[in-house]
Amino acid sequence: MCIFCKIVEGEIPSNKVLEDKNFLAFHDINPAAPLHVLVIPKDHIVSFEETPSELMAKMTPFIQEVTKKLGLDKNGYRLVTNVGDDGGQEVKHLHFHILGGGKLIWNHFPKDDPHKSL
Ligand code: AMP
Repeated sequence: MCIFCKIVEGEIPSNKVLEDKNFLAFHDINPAAPLHVLVIPKDHIVSFEETPSELMAKMTPFIQEVTKKLGLDKNGYRLVTNVGDDGGQEVKHLHFHILGGGKLIWNHFPKDDPHKSL
């Protein structure tokens, strides 16, 4: 069972923000912003690449509810999902990162590889 499935099952504790029958939002253990929350489906789906549109249709309002609960809806936030190895996805269970609580920098690529910049 993957680590996020264990969080869903309660085998690993998490600092929950919001939950319904399909989704769970909890604080990232290693925050990259003043507020850093992960939103996952309770069912195991590897990444955005495998995500059915019907699931996204339900996940979108759930994420919006989370951002409102966190008070991020007024000033904004970043919503990110890493996909696969090049995307830097460490946990192979679909998750959206909600990052906010201040002005965020935008850093796409490792600094030591100037050829890989937009
Ligand atoms: P990614 O690199 O996109 O797969 O992101 C995985 C995220 O999961 C990272 O930001 C980790 O800090 C976070 N993470 C890993 N284990 C836990 C955990 N037990 N509780 C909360 N967040 C976690």
